[in-house]
Amino acid sequence: MTLPLSHPALSATDPELAALVGAEEQLQADTLRLIPSENYVSQAVLEASGTVLQNKYSEGYAGRRYYEGQQNIDQVERLATDRAKALFGVDHANVQPYSGSPANLAVYLAFAEPGDTVMGMALPMGGHLTHGWGVSATGKWFRGVQYGVRHDTGLIDFDEVRDLALKERPKLIFCGGTALPRTIDFAAFAEIARESGAVLVADVAHIAGLIAGGAHPSPVPHADVVSTTTHKTLRGPRGAMLMSREEHAKAIDKAVFPGLQGGPHNQTTAAIAVALHEAAQPSFRDYAHAVVDNAKALAEALLARGFDLVSGGTDNHLILMDLTPKDVPGKVAAKALDRAGIVVNYNTVPYDPRKPFDPSGVRIGTPSLTSRGLATEHMPAVAGWIDRGVTAARTGDEDELAAIRAEVADLMAAFPAPGLPTD
Ligand SMILES: *Cc1c(COP(=O)(O)O)cnc(C)c1O
Repeated sequence: MTLPLSHPALSATDPELAALVGAEEQLQADTLRLIPSENYVSQAVLEASGTVLQNKYSEGYAGRRYYEGQQNIDQVERLATDRAKALFGVDHANVQPYSGSPANLAVYLAFAEPGDTVMGMALPMGGHLTHGWGVSATGKWFRGVQYGVRHDTGLIDFDEVRDLALKERPKLIFCGGTALPRTIDFAAFAEIARESGAVLVADVAHIAGLIAGGAHPSPVPHADVVSTTTHKTLRGPRGAMLMSREEHAKAIDKAVFPGLQGGPHNQTTAAIAVALHEAAQPSFRDYAHAVVDNAKALAEALLARGFDLVSGGTDNHLILMDLTPKDVPGKVAAKALDRAGIVVNYNTVPYDPRKPFDPSGVRIGTPSLTSRGLATEHMPAVAGWIDRGVTAARTGDEDELAAIRAEVADLMAAFPAPGLPTD
């Protein structure tokens, strides 16, 4: 199905760029997008992020700005913060961080000094770069100590986390990550943070939408600070939020501005407000639960086809597959699946003997396909395509990959994507 042309002003001014946007729209329409950190935002979120709010400078916070002319901007930011507080049940929300990584850096600035010890999950175990990993500023300017998952179960070992925390006495403990297929036990982390005198930061970037929709437990009664992106399961624009109890509100606000950033991106704040409004609707609860139902159904179908899933399955939106038994490296599989119209990312698996740029696994997730309306009855077909694609990756069968691509596009045409042009 060929999408109609859109963006008339852009096409007239810069046809070269407009053609690239059009090609991306076509790609997002035709493919099965399985990257767990991606999604399709609504047309309303797209429109809010493309407004004249773009034109305003607003250093400071609502009612306390360094520039005049904030009559409307202040209300936009208050709407976003009030909606975040109501949706997540928190005392305080800061919606200004430019993205998840700067949001986390602001947490370091608020609670730690350079050289202090911080603790997080190791990147190859499923943690995020900004949780003190060596190549990140957070691992260069702070002393990162890292926990992982058990080799036999693929699950976090809380005795190990407690021993490490009591030995190292970190200022900050991060929980959450980018490749964790299981429910995060925020209460267990909170107890360890209390025992060791650390500030607990729940980084729920991946699962914020599941939390908002009641499909994953909330960190809010347990964590001192909740950090999240707004563009993953929460289905908003690319941005981030920091939420906390009242006692930490000042420290967090000061760290974001003037500590780390200048003017907030007001068009993004507006789109965050829209996404939070959407996430407060009953239909978003259905969405969040459908994301998890789809992931579980996909995991079952993959297990039935002999795939090896880290931790044996999933509780959330994400599946991490170790392709070692299939005799295909993760990168080779990911690139072949991409040619078959199935977009995934190659990923390290815990205790991966291969290198991070050429690891053993692929990571897949269901937020995007659920936004298009695919349901559990479609998951056996998705698993079938993945299975055929991985086999074709091993045998180098390009005809098979092309055949899968056509079948995928055929199904996706019946499920129009939010935010993409239609006739
Ligand atoms: C995605 C993610 C981030 C970083 O977000 P960016 O917007 O890419 O900077 C931080 N933490 C976790 C756990 C994430 O999954």
